[in-house]
Amino acid sequence: MPKKIIGLYPGSFDPITNGHIDIARRAVKLCDELHVAVVGNPSKKALFSVERRVELLQKTMGRVPGVKISSFNGLLVDYARQLKAQIIFRGLRAVSDFEYEFQMALINRALHPQIEVMFLVPNEKYIFLSSSSIKEVAKFGGKLKGFVPPEIEKALRAAYQPSSLKAKGARP
Ligand code: ADP
Repeated sequence: MPKKIIGLYPGSFDPITNGHIDIARRAVKLCDELHVAVVGNPSKKALFSVERRVELLQKTMGRVPGVKISSFNGLLVDYARQLKAQIIFRGLRAVSDFEYEFQMALINRALHPQIEVMFLVPNEKYIFLSSSSIKEVAKFGGKLKGFVPPEIEKALRAAYQPSSLKAKGARP
């Protein structure tokens, strides 16, 4: 029997955008099972909690055949080993992504020589899109249609409502 190809697409997904969804849809075509996983380590200050990000991924990508949603803490390569994943997928938008991604890919290869890192390029309409720019737009009440799915738009609107911003320390 041919070996099952398992892919892992890790990210902060704070929150998921149409750019992430574009990459995940391309990645799932290349494997039998794709794990879209929220990186739990707090290296960046997130707007949404890990649990909420998983829930939002579930709502937007959970029903795509072959896609599984999860989160993990610790090293990416350890999680890849745990899942028996052979491929790590990352998205490349512009040259600005390249240096960091290239460095991480080589570090991950040094830590786990059997893993391959594959870079996928999104549809050009998502090249400029990032979770941080979307949060900026949402914060000032800008239009989000076409950038994020409706469920994410709703979650962002709720997160930036004056009443939720006032709730000190509370995360959406
Ligand atoms: P991280 O903190 O791991 O970079 P992100 O959620 O920002 O997490 O991104 C996860 C992955 O998705 C990264 O490989 C990133 O380059 C890619 N990505 C993010 N936004 C887009 C987009 N608009 N188009 C293509 N890839 C994207």
